Amino acid sequence: MPTPVLTCLGAAGTVTGSRHLLEYNQHRVLIDCGLFQERHLQAHNFDAFNPPASSLDAVLLTHGHLDHCGLLPRLVAQGFTGRVHATSATCAIAPIVMADSARLQMEDAKFKQKRHAKEGREATHGYAPLYDDEDVQAAVARLAPAVIGQRVSLAPGIEAVFFHAGHILGSASIAVTAGTGADRRTVLFSGDLGRRHNPLVPDPAILQDCDAVVIESTYGDRLHEPTADIGSALEAAIAPAAKRGGVVLVPCFAVERAQELLWHLGRLFRAKRLPPMPVHLDSPMAQRLLEVFRTHPEATSLGFSAADLDFPGLHLTHGQEESKQINERNGPMIVIAGSGMCTGGRIKHHLAHRLGDARNLVLFVGYQADGTLGRQILEGRKRVRLFGGEREVNAQIAQVRGFSGHADRDELLGWLERLPHRPRQVVVVHGGATVSGSFARLVNERLHVPAQAAVAGVPIALM
Ligand SMILES: [Zn+2]
Repeated sequence: MPTPVLTCLGAAGTVTGSRHLLEYNQHRVLIDCGLFQERHLQAHNFDAFNPPASSLDAVLLTHGHLDHCGLLPRLVAQGFTGRVHATSATCAIAPIVMADSARLQMEDAKFKQKRHAKEGREATHGYAPLYDDEDVQAAVARLAPAVIGQRVSLAPGIEAVFFHAGHILGSASIAVTAGTGADRRTVLFSGDLGRRHNPLVPDPAILQDCDAVVIESTYGDRLHEPTADIGSALEAAIAPAAKRGGVVLVPCFAVERAQELLWHLGRLFRAKRLPPMPVHLDSPMAQRLLEVFRTHPEATSLGFSAADLDFPGLHLTHGQEESKQINERNGPMIVIAGSGMCTGGRIKHHLAHRLGDARNLVLFVGYQADGTLGRQILEGRKRVRLFGGEREVNAQIAQVRGFSGHADRDELLGWLERLPHRPRQVVVVHGGATVSGSFARLVNERLHVPAQAAVAGVPIALM
């Protein structure tokens, strides 16, 4: 029997598009099936699957973020008929994330077709959505819940075990074992790794022995600032705005960040560190995620209760009409809406309505990429473009740091060092090419283990 072979197909030299293939004795297992989200890579989402989708025995998902599960509907549409194993919470989150992605793609395709028809240009390929609602439903039907710590059989001679990864609700690291006798190898896929002491989800687990590790390096070249007290920072930003009767707008990612924010706000209100005021959660997706927190206590940290995400004054906004009605209301109040970088979603109409008033506050709690509206506002632009017109920015701007779903450089190294035995090799994924390379060198120096940055499509023999 041959030794198992690992090939990283995506997130190799890139930050998104997580997809790793493990082959053994003509059986194939895919770990994650993520979407490329970097603009210059998006066209690759339309590439034909190699190996063909129909040749895979099973898929494993580490968690429900789009760059880990977002290509699954296409894989199923292209002929994958096996099971998709994921923790029960991921089986609840991935359908929400995939459905949202399908909706955005369908809207985007329609918009491009319309614009090209108007300009008299011929429709070219690439303006069909990558997948639609039906494709998402077909993918959801393949999901099979896995229990943390229990063995899952994937194909003859291949099995997997899931462990908590502490990144988002349901997130897991997965140990995949393939082969028999001297050719038996266990590869541990870190998935995205979170930080310890997150109030919502369990710490990344202490793991089992393995021969090889495939580790993410999103923050492999950075250290988080010493953990500031997020509650105090939120209080310092929100209290003065509330006092002057302002509206606090929080552009927020729907998956996890919005719930984390509610957890902190709940504590501040209960401790009377903030005066009572309405908090509008104006994000259908964040509300669905709230429900997943309620129905999946097995995936939350010890001591967490879904009641921690609820407090008097919290309003779940239903429908676009209700969202627009918030514009009629006076402060003080807090409005949490997507998208997290202000590139789309309901936050845009709230910003258009509130940016001009100096009593209001735009409060950032997440990363703002270059070129996004969020980054422009955060950098202090006095005028920004919104809905085709210029808007004056008179509102106050603040940022609360300290929220992060990703382990930093030293936390990633610490996770490797806590393995019961040193692995024989480490493969670094999920980072820009330079970050992955420098983190691989660091692993090599500190752990004295051969480490390499994955190169897309190049098979790696398992030692
Ligand atoms: Zn993630």
